[in-house]
Amino acid sequence: MERVERDFYARDVEDQDAFLTQTWCNNCMEADLGMVEPVEYSIDGVVFVDGKCAKCGELVTTEIADEDTDGEWDDE
Ligand SMILES: [Zn+2]
Repeated sequence: MERVERDFYARDVEDQDAFLTQTWCNNCMEADLGMVEPVEYSIDGVVFVDGKCAKCGELVTTEIADEDTDGEWDDE
């Protein structure tokens, strides 16, 4: 399991906005509280965004079902 750092801010602003607002906090047990300080990375081809719950500051991890993960596309 290798963790590869990715650049969250390389995403479209709309994407960033969605990830930062559509969250689930295990501490608050509430959805869409938002998160701050996002850090994006992938493990084994699965992309995650870690951040802090905007309400309580606990770690929030969002798993991204990503279509544009490296190497899937054949660019002729
Ligand atoms: Zn929270």
